[in-house]
Amino acid sequence: MSILTLNCGSSSVKFSVYSPKDGDLFCRGLVERVGSAESILKLKHGEKETRIEQACADHTEAVALVLKVLTGGDDSPVTDLAAIQAVGHRTVHGGDKFANSARVTPELIKTLEDLSALAPLHNPPNLAGIRAAQALLPDIPHVAVFDTAFHQTLEPEAYLYPVPYAWYEKHGIRRYGFHGTSHLYVAHRAAALLGRAYDSVRLVTLHIGNGASAAAVCCGRSIDTSMGFTPLDGLVMGTRSGSIDPAIPLFVMRAENLPAADMDRILNKKSGLLGLTDRFSDRRDIEKAARDGDERCKEAIELEARGLKKIIGAYAAVMGGLDAVVFTAGVGENSSLIRQKTLVGLQFLGIHLDEEANALAHGGDAEARISKPDSAVRAFVIPTNEERVIAEDTLAICEDRFDKPDFKYSFA
Ligand code: ADP
Repeated sequence: MSILTLNCGSSSVKFSVYSPKDGDLFCRGLVERVGSAESILKLKHGEKETRIEQACADHTEAVALVLKVLTGGDDSPVTDLAAIQAVGHRTVHGGDKFANSARVTPELIKTLEDLSALAPLHNPPNLAGIRAAQALLPDIPHVAVFDTAFHQTLEPEAYLYPVPYAWYEKHGIRRYGFHGTSHLYVAHRAAALLGRAYDSVRLVTLHIGNGASAAAVCCGRSIDTSMGFTPLDGLVMGTRSGSIDPAIPLFVMRAENLPAADMDRILNKKSGLLGLTDRFSDRRDIEKAARDGDERCKEAIELEARGLKKIIGAYAAVMGGLDAVVFTAGVGENSSLIRQKTLVGLQFLGIHLDEEANALAHGGDAEARISKPDSAVRAFVIPTNEERVIAEDTLAICEDRFDKPDFKYSFA
């Protein structure tokens, strides 16, 4: 039996088919440009890669195309739709309503609709994906797996912002944190690599992709994280500013007579590394330009690494020590330069980078230790696997095993 995972963004549907019992990934793929006449489906199944150009006007059409391609031929990943036991939906914002993955019910959908005000860019496409998949696969369970759930263990001193308390009560203004599924996965893997119990280790997990976030995972709980009320907070990102002086947008809005919607777009789409370099958000481009002597790109790299270094120090202080630092996602898994600049000089914390191992760790599915063998604090590169968490949560919920004391991830 297989679990289908779906991750519906505003113009994309990412999917995978898993057999969680044996940890097997059958295939993964993506429909891009949903909502246009130029939608493209790409599927990777073993060594075989399929590409189909077919207009998908909305998420329903895109999910229908996914199901058709998954079951379409003799060598398709899934024999027929009956082989799909359940669907796990990546869902961005569960607010403070969901501390765990949960079965999709009419009440859950209503709660997600209510939460859409908090995540207007993310929850509506997630909901569209859930509705589309439920319409096409009405007889099997659907499960929502939230990006925010992992961080629901934060204490008030970590999740409250020092603004009028009424904003928290009235508008839900607090730190929620995101990328939770990824932080959970790599934290469990790091504990396994350390050969220690998950609930005994102190970790800083760094998910650095286009979006970037850090988490302090202490004794099996997220106790702090850098993304906040929205994914705009925290570390510098490809096009998002991360944390800045909150007076800056107010000043520029007044000085340039900018409406709030424009400022929102600038902080989310035109800032971060793109804003700094005025050219690139992709770290590969930034690293190449820096090698070619571009000063702004050199500064951007230094700024990004400095932010990462600062958060490692801050979270080590909050946790009262540190066992490992974990790098994951596109940049964390691939950029030895960012990792090197982040970890250099942290010997005082017990982190001794193995420059050679670091230079060798890039891409692929391999996990790597990039600290010296005698480093008191380890550093790892761990490729993230959010789909696997989604598939395992989904199956465990279907089998009523989730949240029971003996529930354990197969990758832990
Ligand atoms: P998303 O947040 O969109 O899921 P990813 O986790 O895929 O993003 O990460 C995308 C980022 O990873 C891009 O900025 C890209 O430049 C960066 N990246 C991928 N490969 C490399 C590499 N070899 N060196 C540096 N950065 C890389």
